[in-house]
Amino acid sequence: MQDILNYINGQLIQPKSNLYIDNIAPATGKKIGSIPNSSAIDVNLAVEAAQAAFPTWASCGADQRSKILLKIADLLEKALPEFAQAESLDNGKTLKLASTVDIPRAVHNLRFYATAILHAHDEAYYTEPHALNYTRREPLGVVACISPWNLPLYLFTWKIAPALAAGCTVVAKPSEVTPLTAFMFAKICIEAGLPAGVLNIIHGEGAHTGQALVEHPDIEAVSFTGGTHTGQRIAALVAPKFKKLSLELGGKNPNIVFEDCDLEKAVKGSVLASFSNQGQICLCGSRIMVHQSIYEVFKEKFLAKAAALQVGNPQDPHVQVGAVVSEGHYHKILSYIDLAQKEGGKILLGGMPVQLEGDYSKGFFIAPTVIENLPYDCRTNQEEIFGPVVTIMPFESESEVLKYANSTKYGLAATIWTENLTRAHRVAHQIKSGIVWVNCWLLRDLRTPFGGMKESGVGREGGFEAIRFFTEEKNICIKL
Ligand code: NDP
Repeated sequence: MQDILNYINGQLIQPKSNLYIDNIAPATGKKIGSIPNSSAIDVNLAVEAAQAAFPTWASCGADQRSKILLKIADLLEKALPEFAQAESLDNGKTLKLASTVDIPRAVHNLRFYATAILHAHDEAYYTEPHALNYTRREPLGVVACISPWNLPLYLFTWKIAPALAAGCTVVAKPSEVTPLTAFMFAKICIEAGLPAGVLNIIHGEGAHTGQALVEHPDIEAVSFTGGTHTGQRIAALVAPKFKKLSLELGGKNPNIVFEDCDLEKAVKGSVLASFSNQGQICLCGSRIMVHQSIYEVFKEKFLAKAAALQVGNPQDPHVQVGAVVSEGHYHKILSYIDLAQKEGGKILLGGMPVQLEGDYSKGFFIAPTVIENLPYDCRTNQEEIFGPVVTIMPFESESEVLKYANSTKYGLAATIWTENLTRAHRVAHQIKSGIVWVNCWLLRDLRTPFGGMKESGVGREGGFEAIRFFTEEKNICIKL
């Protein structure tokens, strides 16, 4: 049992609210500990600590901030096996994914921003003949970072690393569904000597703790990753207060397979894009569109590969598909499979829970599911399911597939499989999404802008975009 505590002003403490929530392991359905359900009083304590720490942290210099972040990264890397184990237990994802993607990426996020800040520079303009203008980027103050459950430490560090590197102090709220690695991370920050109050981690339900944080008058900016509905709610709350807001929201991403693709690569990449992390990555390609001339052959190969994926105990190194994150989410995914059938969908693979035995008999496992025969504009093809469920449909022409691809309210990511370079550019330019991958999926360079169009978000993370978000530019004009 792991009873989680808040990290406020450099200390691990219980919530003043004295309220707790059970933490459930999705692979077993069993309680593995408790989580504070922090109140506005706890949020206030965290914000006060962050305010008190801000002047020193903001002015200690990029070099000093960089050193501490690098130390945290080193300690996290040393503890990678324990963190990966905890992430897998808490989220239901495979230990393999947690060990090779989630925790290494969290280390990378910290190192990336710890070193990026050393290369940040301001601008200067000589206004002939009488003035010199120069700009200064100043950290905003206390900021809120709110992250979801699908890639817990990966997305948590993706926000706090640039905020801290830029000189802000932070109150962060991980998802109540997956709080474990953020709690362990607090212990590492203490060990690394991060000054008290610079980072505060507060646990609790989104509508309770998260909302109190967003509404706090001394929070200067909110960086949020999560669902589109929650993003809308947060935007409505902070807009009248003119707080800076970054929103990374949902997606319903097209995965387009042209007849001139490398078929083996397209099949392999599409299976990864469909079922990695049980389909619970905002970037997963959940709508597969295949040119009619290769539809049957692609479908046959894709189904064979998807059917070979082993669903089971996430800690087993041979398993590729673990549990989905919670009982509520499990029922939501199953309800979408029902809806797809009501809409006329034909289940080609899966379409049902997977019943395991022994310790895992009460876990939340769903078979990789492939559905065909659905129109592009039905609910199953328009709404985010966020599970191991994809649809597959044929198309005849580029213009037709672009209509399908751009038909949803989302615009986060897209994947195109083609060996024709001209076509790759042409289609990429016409897709309305923040990221387009050609002949790959989830290949990331942290220097590139990351974010969505339409209802997939506002603003961009990544590279210097994130540093810009957590700072405000000031121009100083000197008459010569
Ligand atoms: P939610 O929107 O439910 O929650 C995200 C975070 O916000 C959680 O920490 C949650 O806390 C908190 N929260 C919930 N309600 C409020 C509120 N009223 N005020 C403040 N905070 C609140 O999303 P999920 O956790 O379910 O994550 C899945 C979603 O995230 C999917 O839609 C997915 O596409 C999206 N996502 C987007 C990414 C991107 O980069 N664009 C990346 C990854 C995921 P709690 O969980 O404790 O309720």
